[in-house]
Amino acid sequence: MTLRFGQSCPTCGRRIEVRLELLGRSVACPHCHAEFIASERQTPQPSSDEALMDRVERALRRSGAVVPVK
Ligand SMILES: [Zn+2]
Repeated sequence: MTLRFGQSCPTCGRRIEVRLELLGRSVACPHCHAEFIASERQTPQPSSDEALMDRVERALRRSGAVVPVK
């Protein structure tokens, strides 16, 4: 049994499967042949609440209403 994880190619956006043993290593997309580092969390899917808060926070930062502490 070969463990695999799915991710989207950062270049062409197609869904590809990468063998788990290649995690963190340079791989080539089978569709567009672009090379990238295999990363299981490259395209995180935050919950809708988190995504909303993230958008609000970014908007506030852009407006200058929030100053990052660090
Ligand atoms: Zn690709």
